[in-house]
Amino acid sequence: MEKSNDLKVKWADRVIKQDEIDRYTKSGKDFIDDDVLNQILSTNQKTDSARIREICDKSLSIETLTLDETAALLAVSDPDLLEIMRETALKVKLKVYDNRIVTFAPLYMGNECVNNCLYCGFRNQNNSVTRNVLSMEDIRRETEVLSGKIGHKRLIVVYGEHPKTDVNYMVDSIKTIYDVKVKTRKGFGQIRRVNVNAAPMSIEDLKKLQKAGLGTYQVFQETYHHRTYSLMHPKNTIKGNYAWRLYALHRAFEAGIDDVGLGALFGLYDWRFEVMGLIAHSRELESRFGIGPHTISFPRLEPADNAPYTTTSGYQVSDEDFKKLMVVIRLSVPYTGMIITARESAEIRRKAFLFGCTQTDASTCIGIGGYSKGCILQEGNDQQFILGDTRSLDEVIREYAKMGFITSFCTAGYRCGRTGECIMDLLKTGQEGVFCKLNAILTFREWLDDFASEETRIVGEEVIKRELGEVKEKIPELYPKLIEQYKKIQSGSRDLYF
Ligand code: SAM
Ligand code: SF4
Repeated sequence: MEKSNDLKVKWADRVIKQDEIDRYTKSGKDFIDDDVLNQILSTNQKTDSARIREICDKSLSIETLTLDETAALLAVSDPDLLEIMRETALKVKLKVYDNRIVTFAPLYMGNECVNNCLYCGFRNQNNSVTRNVLSMEDIRRETEVLSGKIGHKRLIVVYGEHPKTDVNYMVDSIKTIYDVKVKTRKGFGQIRRVNVNAAPMSIEDLKKLQKAGLGTYQVFQETYHHRTYSLMHPKNTIKGNYAWRLYALHRAFEAGIDDVGLGALFGLYDWRFEVMGLIAHSRELESRFGIGPHTISFPRLEPADNAPYTTTSGYQVSDEDFKKLMVVIRLSVPYTGMIITARESAEIRRKAFLFGCTQTDASTCIGIGGYSKGCILQEGNDQQFILGDTRSLDEVIREYAKMGFITSFCTAGYRCGRTGECIMDLLKTGQEGVFCKLNAILTFREWLDDFASEETRIVGEEVIKRELGEVKEKIPELYPKLIEQYKKIQSGSRDLYF
């Protein structure tokens, strides 16, 4: 026992590379200045209608807002102005992403972690949790269910920070997932994009992940507020180093990963400050690397096993404030994908898409190894927190189809080089939308044929009919090629894309 603890300490000592922090900071200071962000929040308290309308127009021209503009939106409480903001948020989403929604599933690789975040059920000092890390065989079994039974094409693979799930394990697990191919009703199921949510890494390790075929690399800052960060993440842990985490995505860019996801855990500190932190972070990436975040996540703190802070923080975000923060993020970074997860209730998730969210998970199971066990671990204590919506992918797709959305399983972008700066430009100018529309139709057809229940298939056929009609009318030059590919999919071909 003693020996294994010593090994863990030695491993942890080697993780942080100080020179990979120092190269970005200025005289030891990072780009989040708490006082400046608070100052901007307080000087933008007065909101006049003309200014808010102007800011909404800027957002509608797909330009990132300044911190002052974001602060002005955060200060709005007038119901009419809020309504204008909500309507603009939906217009922005439709302009950039049309009526598409992307779905994915999280796959938790283990609950071993050397850190001790006060809000997390996996924290090292939680002695009531049964620790487990998936073997490659377990991962294969989980992937078979996700890709062969449920029909997911994208995963977000989640790792604790631990020598047992180090970068070599991550690389092996990504390869294992991509290798699984399962026969389905008419074709085959396969995971085509593996996104990763993991602790900050060195540039050397990030290069290994990139080589393994990583999709998006997500690191959530949790809280941008320095003092709260120190309270939540004990100093003697790796995660206790704010700057190592803050510059994780800078290092990703240096490692050649140009597809990154930001996030903050809402409920640790004042939600307005966290929104400012997310926008400051997005602007910093844009100005330094020419590319902003591919996605932004905004999980709300959920009760977790043996993590009392989750219910006593004093900063819990109400549903009303949560809806507002989604609108403000949508307007502030108009081109970015926004992820709403099954932590939230079905009701909030429905609203989220009308406020501009673009991605969500479904058929979610966060118990370790839970998918292949039929998710019976859902209520157990080996999971990180409790979910708010456990509906199946089939039910969720049916509901969104009835709301006018098409679920896209497209993963073409990163496989044909439409990532990073290229995808940002395409998104900002609305051009990516053309490929996405066609690929949404093709992949939705695949999913309906391979996985949909009869009830969902009937609703889905209506969606397909409408979408095909739109392509015929708006992009007639591509219609014949689309129909050619569509027919191939109907007769069992898979993974065709523009
Ligand atoms: N261990 C890695 C890390 O901390 O970056 C990645 C995995 S962690 C399991 C993924 C995310 O879950 C964290 O970044 C945090 O935002 C979120 N999380 C942790 N505890 C939570 C809770 N009680 N409620 C909601 N989200 C939580
Ligand atoms: Fe570990 Fe991540 Fe949980 Fe913190 S949030 S205890 S780093 S798994």
